[in-house]
Amino acid sequence: MPRPIQALIHTAALTHNLARARAAAPDARVWAVVKANAYGHGIENVFQAFRGADGFALLDLEEAKRLRALDWRGPILLLEGCFEPRDLELCSRLDLWHVVHREAQIDWLAAHKTQLPHRVFLKLNSGMNRLGFTPQAFRSAWVRLNALPQVDEISFMTHFADADGPRGIEHQLKCFLEATADLQGERSLSNSAAALRLAGDDPQVRADWVRPGIMTYGSAPDYPEHDIAHWDLQPTMTLRSQLIAVQHLQGGDTVGYGSTFTAEQPMRIGIVACGYADGYPRHAGTGTPVLVEGVRTRTLGRVSMDMLAVDLTPVPAAQCGAEVTLWGKGPRGTVLAIDEVARAAGTLGYELMCAVAPRVPVLAA
Ligand code: PLP
Repeated sequence: MPRPIQALIHTAALTHNLARARAAAPDARVWAVVKANAYGHGIENVFQAFRGADGFALLDLEEAKRLRALDWRGPILLLEGCFEPRDLELCSRLDLWHVVHREAQIDWLAAHKTQLPHRVFLKLNSGMNRLGFTPQAFRSAWVRLNALPQVDEISFMTHFADADGPRGIEHQLKCFLEATADLQGERSLSNSAAALRLAGDDPQVRADWVRPGIMTYGSAPDYPEHDIAHWDLQPTMTLRSQLIAVQHLQGGDTVGYGSTFTAEQPMRIGIVACGYADGYPRHAGTGTPVLVEGVRTRTLGRVSMDMLAVDLTPVPAAQCGAEVTLWGKGPRGTVLAIDEVARAAGTLGYELMCAVAPRVPVLAA
């Protein structure tokens, strides 16, 4: 029998969540963001579920090839654009839209000999200070691009730094609107947090395209202020395994490397076939929530490479083979939100879902 750990991908939930993104910005088109192998879900697993998207946004030419191999003929956007001049040839052949965020990418386009015109998203750095032209450089970048016969459509985008936080988007929105005020072309601004929290009230935030990622994978962008139930989102990934050993501790016994947990009294603990080499966060210390047979309990001690320990006090009948839900859907309709586990481990749902290791079988359910 293979090791009992599995990641299940809930395709109906993916479709539901994508519909929620569309409902949040009903007059906009939707780029389903599938970078990082669809946030760890597997591009092939999400593809059918997201077929209703208007386009797919990702980073990697290899991932774009995989989408074309699935016979997706609609738009694909490279969110970081080309990394070197020869990428342009593949962009043309695969008919990809690509972001232009720095001067060299315009030089490469100018030197590119092609019959097939390029569609680009010119990116403004409106305050995130990651990618994009500054407001001062934006206009001359547009003038250069607009003069190139290789480019037949220029759209505009920016990315919000704090759509889920206290700074909000006002200053970035203003910057974007000013920089693009008299330019013809489509616009795209909103990630999940902006789409869910802000786009409904403002057509300028919805714009022509929204770019939801994390919400479509069943994680609340503004957790813990809101959870996925608040936004009517469903969990899309379950990481589950089983108990492979049960230990009986006496008061004073310790658990795992570093002996960081000490039993105060006799107790039963379970050993789960899941460790940091499976992608479970090593920083999840004692007390991270976990379900055993659908009953909520907690992890104990340090997570090791292949195993972790759980408290069986709330589930006295649990034996080897008992189902353990690390996050996602448990038995009998139980749910353990990935956001809750992430928070206990000092990270985000994004990181947990992207970190599921290649050795974990991923199955579409
Ligand atoms: N757009 C861009 C440019 C991104 O980098 C990302 C993700 O980081 C997204 C959209 C999707 O963001 P989120 O997953 O927060 O919805």
